[in-house]
Amino acid sequence: MRERQEQYPQLEVDLGKLQENLAALRERCQVSGIKLSGIVKGFCALPEAAKVYDRAGLDSIGSSRLEQLRTLRQAGIRTPLMMIRIPMPTEVDELVEWADISLQSEISVLRATNEAAARAGVRHKVILMVDLGDLREGFWDREELISAALEVEQKLENLDLLGVGTNLGCYGSVQATPEKMEELIAAAEAVEAAIGRRLEVISGGASSSVHMVLDGTMPSRINHLRVGELLLLGRVWGCDMPELHKDVFTLRAEVIEVKTKPSHPVGELSVDAFGRTRTYVDRGHRRRALLAMGRVDYGECEDLVSREPGLIMLGASSDHTLVDVQNTVRDIQVGDILEFDLCYATMVYLTHSESVHLVFREETTSE
Ligand SMILES: *Cc1c(COP(=O)(O)O)cnc(C)c1O
Repeated sequence: MRERQEQYPQLEVDLGKLQENLAALRERCQVSGIKLSGIVKGFCALPEAAKVYDRAGLDSIGSSRLEQLRTLRQAGIRTPLMMIRIPMPTEVDELVEWADISLQSEISVLRATNEAAARAGVRHKVILMVDLGDLREGFWDREELISAALEVEQKLENLDLLGVGTNLGCYGSVQATPEKMEELIAAAEAVEAAIGRRLEVISGGASSSVHMVLDGTMPSRINHLRVGELLLLGRVWGCDMPELHKDVFTLRAEVIEVKTKPSHPVGELSVDAFGRTRTYVDRGHRRRALLAMGRVDYGECEDLVSREPGLIMLGASSDHTLVDVQNTVRDIQVGDILEFDLCYATMVYLTHSESVHLVFREETTSE
């Protein structure tokens, strides 16, 4: 059998561009006294890419899934690892084995983590999360936060209280603003007053907080951010850093059929492959191409951004993507490869799909 050179769908990760994005953001944050945790859940913590984070000299590398942290440790990553989803009570033994730091919001889980650390004979660092209105994880009640902090500090002897943090913009779409950061600092200072010492870390959020570093409005006591998406895509809602590459990831798919067909389905309509009632625009007969990848690989086709000028996204089923190529500059043929930019959701799905072939473009810069 002929050896295949390239396999599709293919996801290319440009490690050089990723490394440059990391260096650029790290520098901007360093100037403001902010340490960076690189969050790798967006690309399933692929070790090849995570190694770029390891070499970038970050404060920590974080993921929401413990199995990803285990993979990184086993791949030889030496940067401290941070578990950023509140741990499950059933995973605390693995937590203290694979993570050095965790974000926490429940006293029962803190106690269980302390016992797991004792069993394993290790120390484990914790950051207490404060909910400032986005309504996902975090202490809502200030007294509950302070009593948890006091217990960690004074009684849970295998835990180190590293600081407090918050998360914004994930569930409640609440924007990270200097006012929200001041609220977090006030919570941190209440904890400090209770425990009688300064906290090492005040973690002011994720990519959605970086804009305050760039425009100089980040309050000075915020000294830590946990950044995923911005490093990977070069921009997020409300924050575009011109010096960051927007094309770290490239998705490539192969054309398996090109034909001129009506643009409106012919026959009595019911529902599509996913049980949805759809509407179709009648543009007359059009040249259309079928791609060998589908929603199983990337989620929603509306989230794919074609790099082919003139291409119109039509729709997708589990394993097929349909595009209108009537007006593309290039004359698209069977066997051609089409390229797409990703958004966060498509990146998450693609890196979790076993049918997507990963290709890593090595760093070219000398170290
Ligand atoms: C996902 C996540 C982050 C990173 O978010 P980005 O928007 O990708 O920067 C940070 N902190 C927590 C708790 C998260 O769940």
